[in-house]
Amino acid sequence: MNKIVMKFGGTSVAGTEKLKNIAKIVKSQLKNNKLIVILSAMAGETNKLQSYLDEFQEQNSIESDLVLTSGEQVTIGLLSVALKNLGVKSIPLLGWQVPILTDENYEKAKILNIDKKRIKEYFLNYDVIVLAGFQGINLTGKITSLGRGGSDTTAVAIASAIDAERCDIYTDVDGVFTTDPNIESNAKKISKLSYEEMLEMSSTGAKVLHTRSVELAMKNNLTLQVLSSITNKTGTFIVDEKELIEKEIVSGVSYSNNEAKVSISGILDKPGISAKIFGLMAENNINVDMIVQNISQDGISANMTFTINQKDYDLTKTVIENSKKLFDYKSLSLDKKVAKISVIGMGMMSQAGVAEKMFKTLAKNSINILAISTSEIKISVLIDKKHTNIAVKTLHEVYNL
Ligand code: ADP
Ligand code: ASP
Ligand code: MG
Repeated sequence: MNKIVMKFGGTSVAGTEKLKNIAKIVKSQLKNNKLIVILSAMAGETNKLQSYLDEFQEQNSIESDLVLTSGEQVTIGLLSVALKNLGVKSIPLLGWQVPILTDENYEKAKILNIDKKRIKEYFLNYDVIVLAGFQGINLTGKITSLGRGGSDTTAVAIASAIDAERCDIYTDVDGVFTTDPNIESNAKKISKLSYEEMLEMSSTGAKVLHTRSVELAMKNNLTLQVLSSITNKTGTFIVDEKELIEKEIVSGVSYSNNEAKVSISGILDKPGISAKIFGLMAENNINVDMIVQNISQDGISANMTFTINQKDYDLTKTVIENSKKLFDYKSLSLDKKVAKISVIGMGMMSQAGVAEKMFKTLAKNSINILAISTSEIKISVLIDKKHTNIAVKTLHEVYNL
């Protein structure tokens, strides 16, 4: 008996007609296999739930996770009905019924353990388990969520836990493309991509896979396929670097409009100041990404610029405004009108001039660079948000993608 994990995202499950169609896809994979089908909520549903919580300014709590995870209950129930109607023995399960045990961090919980024994027991009586993605239960019995887009992570965690033969992530595009196909019509589907490249693409904004799902797949050496729930074509395989025959210098361009820029001017230029600022951010669970420090001409004071996720905008503002006792500064400004553009590729490690090409291309288009950060296989720049489309399109072109 082979076990296969199939995950369907929000657009793929938006409405009963689509769910009926998915039931057919699932049935077609049954043969001698046992299947775990992971579902998201219908497209737009979790956003709607989020907006209710925003009205109460409620976040990271027992209540917010209870509300946010409710959309998945509807889709798993309906798909299980559609499967039963096709004569398939199916059972819908919420995270706590497995259980998928997580830590206490509401809205960004990490999976600690999955009860494989239970899954095996369910497979004695059912051929398909339809499981709610994006959710779990913590040690004190409260429902938790894994962070927006987290059903990909549920799928990978389950596939790793049960030693699945395959983990297929069905979505609304044919696979992973050289850039977001919804903003660049010339984007091409990539047939194989390394974990490292996919990790950089996801973490720089390509939401086609949840970043943590890629981390987890890499850790467990689990091959992922990203494919369409509509077109019935082979998708993109995310594999170990060793399986790539040719390492592209640049394999993709990604963008993120979720950044905010924080600039603190007039801080003292002395040892320990950075530790204080970023210690403060860490204490408040605020992730910092790009960092630039400029020393002023007097050699006494300095300016610090860094980026955060937009959702941490208010918290960051309050934390820094309340920290004058800890470190003095002249002024603080925060800006949401920024975007991060990244180029990613394994071949970059052994090829010079990739960054220069990026900077020259942006300069030619009169796009100013506000901050830069790099890794071995990625270069990211922060720019004014209004230039996002033109930056992505021209970079996609100059690297011949
Ligand atoms: P799902 O609801 O199936 O989880 P998501 O909306 O989370 O789907 O992710 C799929 C979307 O990711 C696509 O519709 C596309 O707009 C976007 N996307 C961004 N970058 C890429 C990329 N490089 N390749 C494919 N899709 C991308
Ligand atoms: N429904 C959740 C969200 O919209 C989880 C997911 O789609 O992966 O974020
Ligand atoms: Mg998604």
